[in-house]
Amino acid sequence: MNTIIDTLKLFSDPDAMRPFERKPFLYKMKNGAMAAVATDGHRLCLFNANQMFDAEKLEEISEPNIENVLITGNYVTTLSADRLHKAIAQVPIITTEKCCDCYGLGYVDYVFEAHDGEHYWEKHECPVCGGSGYVGVEDGEEDFDYTYGVRINGGIFLPKHLKPVADALTAMQIPELLFKHDHHRIQLESEQFVMVVMENMLEFQYGKSKKHC
Ligand SMILES: [Zn+2]
Repeated sequence: MNTIIDTLKLFSDPDAMRPFERKPFLYKMKNGAMAAVATDGHRLCLFNANQMFDAEKLEEISEPNIENVLITGNYVTTLSADRLHKAIAQVPIITTEKCCDCYGLGYVDYVFEAHDGEHYWEKHECPVCGGSGYVGVEDGEEDFDYTYGVRINGGIFLPKHLKPVADALTAMQIPELLFKHDHHRIQLESEQFVMVVMENMLEFQYGKSKKHC
């Protein structure tokens, strides 16, 4: 049986740039409740920390603003672990390697030069790998074909962002959950936890290169 921390770890990325994305942490909500949270910037999982016997293993932080990520409003329909697994299983497996333009991070700096010469910087998904951090090569590691998205309720999601959700639901033996969807993300919720997955914002027209970096 997985612990809550094991489940949370599915949503972290030990190689992430931002420290809070590398491992689960404790976060104090506006209503004073303590939450145990994990996110890699594309997906998020949040448990009520009061139900955990090992919450003290996690470090408390106050950034980022977790509540901004959550969708308010009513749940519209249900989503099952089975449906998620089936959708993910339809995505072809290919051999990939880390994208050399974003170093596998999935995002890059864009710069805009204004007429007065001032420069403005923003981070956005890498256009070469579509934010997946990987490109297809002849002899790399096996992974999901990064040019495929999984459609849920009209939104397009990367399979690698949905897989931890499907795996967590299976590990917790939760067959089906209420879920809601806004323009950029889906959210599943039970009495114990909330999970959010961000949509992939780019169309899948990139990443045709099969060359090694
Ligand atoms: Zn890239």
